[in-house]
Amino acid sequence: MRNGVNQLKTTLPDGRVVLFNQHEHIAYTQDYSSATPENPGAIVFPNDITDITQTLSVANQNFTPVTIRGAGTGKSGGSIPNPEGIVLAMERWNSILEIDEENHMAVVEPGVLTKTLQDAVKEKGLFYPPDPSSLEICTLGGNVAENAGGPSAFKYGVTGDYVLGLEGVWGNGQAFSLGGKRLKDVAGYDLKSLLVGSEGTLAVITKITLKLIPYPHYIKDLLLTFNTVQEASRCLRQIINSKVQPVAAEIMDRTCIDAVREYSKDSDSIPDSGAYLLLQCDGFTLESVDTQMKVMKVCAKEYNAQHIMAPQTGKETDSIWALRRNISESLKALSTHKESHDIAVPPNMIPNYFDYIDSLNTRDSIKILAYGHLGDGNLHVNVLNLGLNAEEWFDEKLDLEYELLKKAVEMGGSITGEHGIGKSKKNYMDLMFSATDKLHFKLIKNLFDPNNILNPGKWI
Ligand SMILES: Cc1cc2nc3c(=O)[nH]c(=O)nc-3n(C[C@H](O)[C@H](O)[C@H](O)COP(=O)(O)OP(=O)(O)OC[C@H]3O[C@@H](n4cnc5c(N)ncnc54)[C@H](O)[C@@H]3O)c2cc1C
Repeated sequence: MRNGVNQLKTTLPDGRVVLFNQHEHIAYTQDYSSATPENPGAIVFPNDITDITQTLSVANQNFTPVTIRGAGTGKSGGSIPNPEGIVLAMERWNSILEIDEENHMAVVEPGVLTKTLQDAVKEKGLFYPPDPSSLEICTLGGNVAENAGGPSAFKYGVTGDYVLGLEGVWGNGQAFSLGGKRLKDVAGYDLKSLLVGSEGTLAVITKITLKLIPYPHYIKDLLLTFNTVQEASRCLRQIINSKVQPVAAEIMDRTCIDAVREYSKDSDSIPDSGAYLLLQCDGFTLESVDTQMKVMKVCAKEYNAQHIMAPQTGKETDSIWALRRNISESLKALSTHKESHDIAVPPNMIPNYFDYIDSLNTRDSIKILAYGHLGDGNLHVNVLNLGLNAEEWFDEKLDLEYELLKKAVEMGGSITGEHGIGKSKKNYMDLMFSATDKLHFKLIKNLFDPNNILNPGKWI
């Protein structure tokens, strides 16, 4: 066992540190990525800031790795601990400290679940838009650390667009308070934004001030089906050019549709098609939403949509969104292995990226497909193993992973649009960053975490 772990037991009050036990704490060894799980030496459940500073102090003295953990729903291995290291579990820091209705702001602890905040502010007529699909199970601290986004990012932006203030403790043990209840503030370097997306490598975030906006009470959805994803993409561009900004514009390709139909108990109700485009629009009056719906339907006809389905009831709406939600499970049922990436490209490059995927789909044993956030160019590209043995699959998936990420970067995109680098994408940093960029990252890390205790061995 590492020195720091023993010392923590004697430094922190009783009950704050538990030694790792495989049987009880298996959840703390992994997240939702396919990165290899690791066993920590201990898990710390801090009660207050002193517990956090003492944990970091012991870790700094002993060079013991510390991995901060929200709910462990990450998809890039960010909350997977280092072997025998310390997990700093923030899940009990789950209070909404204030909903400031006058200023349209909320102050929360990092362990609050995203949906819990959304529901609480909605009761007051307010809206916290960032909506990762995991919103019922992930924490706001994890959202800030990953700069999480979701379907509504197309209209409303991602988590970072709502972060006004952060409090916490840097890796070196210094407490900080950055930003606050101010909508405009250009004083000094924006260190708060440096922490957004920092993936637990710089500081422990302990308090978050978030911007809220008025809740748009009128929401309508539309499901369009097309022969090809290219047609669906062109239809969306036409909708935007017609001055309608959908909240969400989600795409599913033929393989996804086939998988969801096969998985469903009621496949007859799901039209056979080459592409689905799932749209949502919202507004403060029914008239404005109806106008947007009208424009979207006109564009759909112009671009040869085969079906135009506007759900009329809550149940019908749920069932069209369930198609999107069920993709991942349906694909798992189809294949022996599934590897998922979340590339982003400039939105107008999406048809080209789909063409590229088509060009790679030349074998029966491997299938590549994509679905996701068409509006902001963020696609979940999946590679399915339909017949390779484990060894062949391992080699093939690595080759394909490299090609798929490289192509996204060549098109002006990113190797990750929302899931982060963590462990999963760390070998691909060179595709996006020069040696000088990486040196700057290291210098920044060294300033705030000189002993490299926070998430060492992840992307930095
Ligand atoms: C079914 C499913 C759907 C998903 N859909 C989406 C989606 O639509 N969009 C999207 O962006 N992501 C999505 N995700 C990924 C994941 O939910 C998000 O990345 C989320 O933000 C992680 O939150 P968490 O609380 O689980 O964080 P964790 O997984 O526990 O941690 C993630 C990272 O944040 C760091 N961290 C956590 N808390 C703190 C803190 N208090 N201070 C400093 N660092 C901290 C950790 O060290 C780690 O590096 C999905 C995941 C699942 C399982």
